[in-house]
Amino acid sequence: MNETDTLEILKKLVDVHAPSGFEDSIRPLMISELEKYADEIKVDPLGNVIGIKWGSNLKGPKVMLSAHMDEVGLIVKHITDDGFIYFEKLGMMDDRILLARKVRIHTKNGSIQGVIGVKPKHLLSPDELARSVSFRDMWIDIGAQNRREAEEMGVLPGDPVTFEGELQTLNRDNFVVGRALDNRLGCTALIQTMKELSNENNDATMYAVATVMEEVGGRGAKVAASVINPDLAVALDVTHGIDPGVTAKWSAIQLGDGPGIRLMDIHEPTLLGCTTPVWLKNLILSVAKEEDIPYQIDILSGTFLDSSTIHLAGKGIPSIGILIPRRNGHTPVEIACLSDLRNSIRLISALIRNLTPNNIAKFRGRSN
Ligand code: ZN
Repeated sequence: MNETDTLEILKKLVDVHAPSGFEDSIRPLMISELEKYADEIKVDPLGNVIGIKWGSNLKGPKVMLSAHMDEVGLIVKHITDDGFIYFEKLGMMDDRILLARKVRIHTKNGSIQGVIGVKPKHLLSPDELARSVSFRDMWIDIGAQNRREAEEMGVLPGDPVTFEGELQTLNRDNFVVGRALDNRLGCTALIQTMKELSNENNDATMYAVATVMEEVGGRGAKVAASVINPDLAVALDVTHGIDPGVTAKWSAIQLGDGPGIRLMDIHEPTLLGCTTPVWLKNLILSVAKEEDIPYQIDILSGTFLDSSTIHLAGKGIPSIGILIPRRNGHTPVEIACLSDLRNSIRLISALIRNLTPNNIAKFRGRSN
């Protein structure tokens, strides 16, 4: 595997701004990267990109690798007479991270800069100081004097908004920090796995799917899975790494200790989530051990992946997550370790090589 190449692809992907429902901007890049290694490329009506690499065994399994290409962001709701902009959120984020952020509004005339305004501390009452501010009480300031000026700058309700936060490397290029590592890391793993396996004849047919609208409930993956109807699915995404804020009560996943293998998650407010069948867990753990690939078991509440909707599609699709740990989730300063990205590519590739009808039957405990 060419490691400079992996970082370059990640950089290219993070350079593109594409919040949930507005993946048009990143789709061409995903297509051009995947079509280098896929036998066939399709785009479905929702905008999911599906790259197919046919397996060499007609009886081989169909596996769906799903990496969402959207990122969390905002959407313009309305412009006040004074030229300030109210917004809704696209995806889950803590309102407190929004204040004083630099943002980019993607208008019909191109993207323009703005900031999320904040009432100065000097002017806050003791009551205001004591409580946190809801995003409904925040506004984007683009330096417009009134609504007409904002509209002349191209801004209209419905325009998507993203954070600033380009990719940078940290600690001798072993770590990366930036916006949208969730889930351009997973997209990079998807592309590089296709590349890794491009000259091999494996039994499994791979459906490399760059999905839309994961951050708002795994919507694109649901449709793609029901059309593809795979025998099993792997969500390539990110998970929460431990830091002074995320303690062992939540997660024991360490950056640099290998990809997380997500066996169970549940997002209580929506009941989105997925539990991996034991046979699939056993299969992936045996592959990791055989290939000597580091991994970490990941069991997490408060969250979900594309697997939450995939596993309920069709007649039911056994699903698992292979996840790259990152800290500061859903902020413009997500941090991840590149060795985890490389090891996740190794693990997914090794899993695909081991997806033979016999092996699956062995782990399922029955022949079929
Ligand atoms: Zn994600």
